[in-house]
Amino acid sequence: MRRFLLGNEGIDGDVIAEAARILRAGGLVAFPTETVYGLGANALDESAVDRIYQAKNRPAASPLIVHVAGVEQARQFAVQWPAAADALAAAFWPGPLTLVLPKSAAIPDRVTAGLATVGLRVPSHPVARALLEACDFPIAAPSANLFMGVSPTDAAHVRTSLGEAADLILEGGPSEVGLESTVLSLVSERPVILRLGMITRRQIEAVAGPLDRAGEHEAREGGTHASPGMHPRHYSPRAALLIAGSGDPVPHGRVVRLWWKEEPAEGQGIQLPADPAGYARELYRALHLADGCRPRYIVVEAPPTSEEWEAIWDRLRRAASR
Ligand code: AMP
Ligand code: MG
Repeated sequence: MRRFLLGNEGIDGDVIAEAARILRAGGLVAFPTETVYGLGANALDESAVDRIYQAKNRPAASPLIVHVAGVEQARQFAVQWPAAADALAAAFWPGPLTLVLPKSAAIPDRVTAGLATVGLRVPSHPVARALLEACDFPIAAPSANLFMGVSPTDAAHVRTSLGEAADLILEGGPSEVGLESTVLSLVSERPVILRLGMITRRQIEAVAGPLDRAGEHEAREGGTHASPGMHPRHYSPRAALLIAGSGDPVPHGRVVRLWWKEEPAEGQGIQLPADPAGYARELYRALHLADGCRPRYIVVEAPPTSEEWEAIWDRLRRAASR
């Protein structure tokens, strides 16, 4: 496994070309995206995709998100492309939104865990974009961590979690969004959110009209379009995670804190930003850091409960579930 730094110094075309060669030859490349780091394989190469499942110890029933360079490539791999997909792509791509659509036969069943649908996303991170531009195939990539663990938001987390499993790790600095993408199904009449993310219900409804919340409930209960991210215990640190407090809005100016060690009152803690975007960006880093101390408990102060915090609450609840 080799590592390359492709952060602030600009993107090295030779390194990107090398990464594309590895993927074309059936290898695995970990790469930065704005949500979390992904473990990528050529989405059209079934045995390369198999290696992702093995490396992560991921159950075969969990479909992978397919990353594409742009809308045109996305359309190639979906057999239906409703008007809402165009509107959503125009509003949120490149960015942290995955669209689930009926899949084309070119996408192997292995990628979608046998589902007739495929999750497609155009990431915005410049390294991810450069890599996708250099490949003449889409890249299947789940988060670059062991199944059920906390997703990596920088290259060091990938190394700790997956060690030598990746043939190459591209380093692109800390992930800006820090939470996994919003996953939105467009296969029924109304869009259904399958996984919450930092692109909120309200933002999606403003572009695509009312969401089907009944369908959402069904999906969360394990319906046809069940998502791996819906596993109740997911995104979990090794330590037990406790959410302290009522969840009432944090008064203006008060810091939201993630504590670790057995006694939060002892004052060992990581201060997280008080705004939802900042909090999301720092949350997994803080969980990785806290977990690295091998504590028995990690105590998170309950953040506010307004809509912009909904995805954060989703991840906290899953992380706290045993
Ligand atoms: P991750 O390991 O973070 O990449 O998680 C992959 C996510 O992709 C899951 O949470 C699913 O919601 C979503 N996903 C990918 N493909 C599909 C699909 N065909 N149908 C439903 N959800 C999908
Ligand atoms: Mg994951």
